[in-house]
Amino acid sequence: RCDSALWGSVFLRRGICCSRAFARFHKRQRGSNMQPNLNFSRLGENYLFSEVRARTRAFCEAHPGVRVTDLGVGDVTLPLAAPVVRALRAASAEMGRRETFRGYGPAEGYAFLREALAARYARLGARISPEDIFVSDGAKSDLSAILALFSPQNTVLVTSPVYPVYVDTNLVCGRRVQTLAATRENGFLPLPGPDTQADIVYLCSPGNPTGAAYSMDGLAAWVRWALGHGALLVFDAAYEAFIQDKALPRSIYQVEGARECAIEIGSFSKSAGFTGLRCGWAVVPQALRAGGVPLRGLYARWRAVSTNGVAYPVQRAAAAALSCEGRAAVGKNLQVYRKNAQVLAAALEQAGVWYCGGRNSPYLWLEAPRGMGSWALFEHLLHTARISGTPGAGFGAEGEGYFRLSAFGDADAKKRAAARLCLSLGMLANG
Ligand code: PLP
Repeated sequence: RCDSALWGSVFLRRGICCSRAFARFHKRQRGSNMQPNLNFSRLGENYLFSEVRARTRAFCEAHPGVRVTDLGVGDVTLPLAAPVVRALRAASAEMGRRETFRGYGPAEGYAFLREALAARYARLGARISPEDIFVSDGAKSDLSAILALFSPQNTVLVTSPVYPVYVDTNLVCGRRVQTLAATRENGFLPLPGPDTQADIVYLCSPGNPTGAAYSMDGLAAWVRWALGHGALLVFDAAYEAFIQDKALPRSIYQVEGARECAIEIGSFSKSAGFTGLRCGWAVVPQALRAGGVPLRGLYARWRAVSTNGVAYPVQRAAAAALSCEGRAAVGKNLQVYRKNAQVLAAALEQAGVWYCGGRNSPYLWLEAPRGMGSWALFEHLLHTARISGTPGAGFGAEGEGYFRLSAFGDADAKKRAAARLCLSLGMLANG
């Protein structure tokens, strides 16, 4: 049994794509018909961030005393806002008193948070009922949980480069995943064409890794296509709080007809610094159907089976982040990240390097100068500027030749790193 577990993990770590060998091996070892989910053998190696860490560590070991600035970080770095901490404390204190203690909460989330989220949608001009909102421990959990609603026969379409979770969660369920190229030519915001065919399409706006954000017209084109083809859109709004341009949509439900064809996934992670607290939500509107079956009821059933909900103090903290005072406090943190993005953008402009993102997103997506590969640029920046970032090739083949920088992190360190970045990229771009 031990050997079997060990070899199973070796198969997975190496991303072995030979599921028959994997199956044969297990059958021989166990003499039973019990088998793991063989779709795991479809996953490639999850090596992007471990490879970035390993190369950075090797550089630091070879250059003792040299400090590398991390411009690749995809995690928030500022502490929780004061109103959020106060709500957490108060709710924890409630849990410590007999009269106010709470046990299991509703699987779909407490009414106070679902109502606060519905009010947030109303402020955006979108009509969403609290009953259509399901509170979760973060967007990643919802991205996995919603897959229980659909047939493994459905074909999935993702734009590429892309947040790899959309691909891997579907591959494990046995679905076919196709890609639609997001390129510099289409502004990294591909639209459906006459030949676009899929059952489920993932859209992320503002996008990770490119930072590009769909316009109202762009999202409306996808909604029209989905309604015309009986397809479903999964709209990931994890970075909507970074949108500054008033004309850009922050929710797909700002587009007419989206409630009949879209699920939206939201998160407090990047908007309110909840990456360590964990809270997000999914909207599955009542009007949404697949093959005539209303999906909201299925999702309510699935949540009741698969989760006992999110901690009460965390939900109180999330509701505090949505309050008037909370929004103002959380906004101050976002402003720090926005300033960091401006500093990085100015460095890229001065170096004469093409980039997008940064204005409505914490990510800047730059083109490696002179046709350089993503990993070659990674090594160049590490050695000449003591900067570590994220090679675009890690987000899919279409990301090759690009590089992601992140605005999360300390403001002073960012300023110092931006000066080195400008020098190093400028040298490359201008020969
Ligand atoms: N969606 C995108 C596009 C992300 O980049 C991330 C995290 O980096 C998530 C979802 C996951 O968010 P959460 O922390 O809410 O699970």
